[in-house]
Amino acid sequence: MKPTLDVLDVRTAQVPLHRPFAHARHAHARSGSVLLTLRWDGVTGWGEGAPRPYVTGETVAGTVQALRALDPSALVALLDGAADFPGAVAALAAVDLPRLLGGLRPLPAAAAALETALLDALCRRHGLPVAAVLDACPWAADVLTTENVPRAVSEVVDLSRTPTEQLSALSSAARARLTHVKLKALPDPEETAARALQVRGLLGPSVRLSVDANGGWPPDVAERGARLLRERAALDWLEEPTAPRDWATLRRIQQGGTPVMLDESAMDPTDVAWAAATGAASLVNLRISKCGGLLPTLRTAVRARELGLRVQLGVQVGEIGPLWSIGRTLAARLGDVVAVEAGRQDAWFPTPLTDPPYAVDRQHHTAPPPAGPGHGLRPTTALTTQLTD
Ligand SMILES: [Mg+2]
Repeated sequence: MKPTLDVLDVRTAQVPLHRPFAHARHAHARSGSVLLTLRWDGVTGWGEGAPRPYVTGETVAGTVQALRALDPSALVALLDGAADFPGAVAALAAVDLPRLLGGLRPLPAAAAALETALLDALCRRHGLPVAAVLDACPWAADVLTTENVPRAVSEVVDLSRTPTEQLSALSSAARARLTHVKLKALPDPEETAARALQVRGLLGPSVRLSVDANGGWPPDVAERGARLLRERAALDWLEEPTAPRDWATLRRIQQGGTPVMLDESAMDPTDVAWAAATGAASLVNLRISKCGGLLPTLRTAVRARELGLRVQLGVQVGEIGPLWSIGRTLAARLGDVVAVEAGRQDAWFPTPLTDPPYAVDRQHHTAPPPAGPGHGLRPTTALTTQLTD
């Protein structure tokens, strides 16, 4: 039977956030996802990408345009010939979707929308959860566990609340179970260090503490901020301290004794290799949308491990469904991960956007992946009635 692939629908989900989320580069008032529905060999797959101009240079409108311009017959020709599940995963892993969609200018968020939909359809056709994709990647065996590992998710404090306000709202038992707190940086490193001290005062020395500057500090401020945070608050690592890929400044910060985590600076294995070669980082924040989908994210994790860099698995603000589900699947199986983020969709979207709904156990900070098949989610009418062209 001749394989078929049709893109049925590419739509925009810009759902208002019940409460804003702010960091050094952007204040989010609504989600910004592109949702794609396709049919591959008769099975429907649903995917999501989260384009951010300040992360990958992609916009929502440009992502929609690139996905609508895709010729599915070209893609199905690349995926043709794999009758079994592992063969189909290997065929998909061999296609460079960010470049297939963007040419000379790769489009990782657009690729993530397409790839997560393809994986959903493929897994559903075989009655498997997305975790089965990981089992079909022998090249990634060194970075994966064979079973799900329960992960405590990070507490992320953005600029809309102080650490004291946010952490005091938790029960003392829930506070005691926190393993990692990530603070978004203020423009002033002194004020940022004061916030970091609030966390240490409330949670003590054993919790991991990181600060994310989202590339917003000029180089001299980043170096001063790193020193203040290390000396005053025993910071564990500093995420994206200054303009992306300023390898020289990042290396000086590392040489001063503060480990650097790359985020906006690292989208693919090449960025990771540059960071390792220049001594600019010790850690990388991987995100499914930023990296171009599950398989490219996994490939970047493999490269990071080969080069001695450790990884965090992060999220984009306001992920609607496929992205958070597939992120959780990977988080539960990555063998060496310093931190895992889960988002705060239960606070941002009071009406569930997916069935089953997004949920995090805020007492124990756990966010297990949905059961599947596929990524296990379908949109609710509360979501579909808000989608726009
Ligand atoms: Mg970041």
